[in-house]
Amino acid sequence: MKVVVIIPAAGLGTRMAAAGGAKNRKPAPSKQFTELGGTPILIHTLRKFRASPRVAEIFVALRKDEISGFRERLETEGQDILQKKVELVEGGEHRQHSVANALAAISAAPDDVILVHDAVRPFVTGEIIDEVIEGARKHGAAIAGMPAVDTVKQVERTSDGALITATVPRERVVMAQTPQGFRYDVLKKAFDEAAADGFIGTDEASLVERSGHEVAVVMGSPRNLKITTPSDMELAEFYLRH
Ligand code: C5P
Repeated sequence: MKVVVIIPAAGLGTRMAAAGGAKNRKPAPSKQFTELGGTPILIHTLRKFRASPRVAEIFVALRKDEISGFRERLETEGQDILQKKVELVEGGEHRQHSVANALAAISAAPDDVILVHDAVRPFVTGEIIDEVIEGARKHGAAIAGMPAVDTVKQVERTSDGALITATVPRERVVMAQTPQGFRYDVLKKAFDEAAADGFIGTDEASLVERSGHEVAVVMGSPRNLKITTPSDMELAEFYLRH
């Protein structure tokens, strides 16, 4: 049983650039290339998987025009990461297409485990990676998640703002993180079905759920932050120092 990691890193990071303001004509780097302690977030994330002895191969999906620049950057400052097999593939319009392109480039046996992890979650730990791998082996599909601490409301968006339509019992809610891990056959079937139906999900588990396979949840961490907005960077810099 081998473990292959897919890192979708082909997002534009528009929420990150938004705070730059209209006057800032120079486009902000995509969020996965924003530097944290002088190193791109994506390189921090790759190091976490490089450090996991169970991971055999890593596939990174990048925007076409960023592939050669990132390859050079890996060769100059990521030689440690290149000790594992690392493949750079072209991403797609949506995260799901980026993951699908990487999945198409992977050669795996039905019971191999595929982990998918956001490029912008550099504080994932070895323990979380191991638990997701174990969950995927046991159940066929498992994700890292966090119990909800806030009360969760369902809303309807109106021209007057959001109006609450229901309160969702908090104990029934989990905030999905990554890694999300799947047996290769389970993930491949879910992606094929989603493509045939034109379904686009915001994570891989949603595709597997709709294909009728159970998905287990293992404990994630509040530190396994998804760096999305400029204010997340302040927290990320704090986590990096501590
Ligand atoms: O923008 P979003 O929150 O969906 O980004 C989650 C992850 O998916 C990021 O690592 C981002 O780079 C990646 N992504 C991608 N291809 C896209 C959109 C997002 O690989 N077309």
